[in-house]
Amino acid sequence: MNRSAPAIAGKRGVIKRYFERLPVSSSTPIVTLDEGDTPLIHSDRLSDQTGADVWLKYEGLNPTGSFKDRGMTVAMSNALEAGSAVALCASTGNTSASAAAYAARAGMRCAVLIPRGNVALGKLAQALVHGAQVLEIEGNFDRAQALSQEVAATHSLTLVNSVNPDRIEGQKTAAFEIVEALGRAPDIHVMPVGNAGNITAYWRGYLEAQGAGWSDTLPKMFGWQAMGANPIVAGAVVDNPTTIATAIRIGNPASWSGATEAAAGSGGAIGAVRDKEILESFRGLAAEGIFVELAAAAGVAGLEQMAAAGQVPKGATAVCVLTGNGLKDPEWAVAGAPQPQLVEAAPGPILEALDLA
Ligand SMILES: *Cc1c(COP(=O)(O)O)cnc(C)c1O
Repeated sequence: MNRSAPAIAGKRGVIKRYFERLPVSSSTPIVTLDEGDTPLIHSDRLSDQTGADVWLKYEGLNPTGSFKDRGMTVAMSNALEAGSAVALCASTGNTSASAAAYAARAGMRCAVLIPRGNVALGKLAQALVHGAQVLEIEGNFDRAQALSQEVAATHSLTLVNSVNPDRIEGQKTAAFEIVEALGRAPDIHVMPVGNAGNITAYWRGYLEAQGAGWSDTLPKMFGWQAMGANPIVAGAVVDNPTTIATAIRIGNPASWSGATEAAAGSGGAIGAVRDKEILESFRGLAAEGIFVELAAAAGVAGLEQMAAAGQVPKGATAVCVLTGNGLKDPEWAVAGAPQPQLVEAAPGPILEALDLA
């Protein structure tokens, strides 16, 4: 009897899957948690509502629960190959969660700089459990980002924020997966924008996919900021950004020009949505079985706003990126939902509570 395990079909992890298109070599030690290959889920609800054919790229199913893992595998692999002893990042939460996990995997030290009081508990728990040194500052993400760049400039540690070009390179693989799944690029690509690394990465990915002949077409790129943290829309740095969607609470995005190039180069746009709309879209997704964190709902809120304004062509194929998992930040979910009911531990009261008595 053959007791050997069945061969695992395909290649796991974005570096193995897209080796030729990433800045790694055969001598690079691959630090991976089998990230990527996330589902592209059809949304009947949003398709009915918008008149488009709407697909949701659920990046919350990456190993640490956000798309950050796609770039972190490349950044951490190259850091390990270079012999770097310490990985450093500033974070609104998900970068630190990802950096901590991949540094643990690599056996590297990890330090994260976060804005005190503005990181969701689940994300903080991830950084702590993987053994990162967590430094909190009294100040926002933009300050933390400037500080980490200042420290990295003069000391030999690897900055794994999205100013590290490896991050953007790894993140572009999500566009490859979308093109593979649909057989071509979508007509419309919609996503949240914070530090703007991810929209930069998707646009690069779509351009490469077209160059490689995987898709004849390119999507129009629509990026959505939160109204209180909308520097790109306003055309000016926002000194005190505010939004309930902490992952996009950024006033001075590092990849600002990448976002404007993606929008202008594709015939798309960068817009802003209100917190109230983000929360509504978050609840709408939950009602169809998909639990995301608030920032991840900003893109959907943007698509809904476009549809309401008649800006979504009927029958267009639209992809919305759901950037992070709702389990990271259950506070908002619990606050807005019906609360658990206490019932007596007997069939009668249970049936009564269910209106089945
Ligand atoms: C990082 C992050 C964003 C913003 O991505 P940028 O590349 O900074 O624009 C959006 N949503 C979630 C869940 C994130 O973790």
